[in-house]
This record gives sequence, C-alpha cells and structure tokens, in this order.
Amino acid sequence: MKGNDLAVCIGCGCDDLHACWDDDASAPCTWLRLDRTAGLGVCSACPESTEAWDAGDLEIKVPHEYSPG
Ligand SMILES: [Zn+2]
Ligand SMILES: [Zn+2]
Repeated sequence: MKGNDLAVCIGCGCDDLHACWDDDASAPCTWLRLDRTAGLGVCSACPESTEAWDAGDLEIKVPHEYSPG
C-alpha cells in the first residue's frame, strides 16, 4: 500500500479520511465515482458532479477555489 493514495471529491473536496455528510442518506458520504490512480472521485453528496466526471472533466471544482476573470 502506497502512502498517498487518498481520493478527493471533485465536487466538494472531501476525501477518504474526511467524508462529508450525505443528508439524503443520513450517513457519511460514499463514492459514486472513484479513480484511485488519479486520486479523484465524486462523493454521494455531489451527485451533480457525476455529469462532469462522466464527460471526462476531472478537475477539482471546490467552490471557493474558482479564479477571478
Ligand atoms: Zn463531494
Ligand atoms: Zn463527500
């Protein structure tokens, strides 16, 4: 097992060790999409992000990280 193979959600930035809360399931989020090689995924709190994922857009889109201009 490698030391740094956490997956990060492209929708909200949560990861394997910091799951967010999935209100719909009343449980910590789980992975809807997961690519261990890329270290990215889409968690169950971000179902809308599966569309971008399925379109091949695997950039992390944590809302407060958008760039101006
Ligand atoms: Zn998420
Ligand atoms: Zn999450």
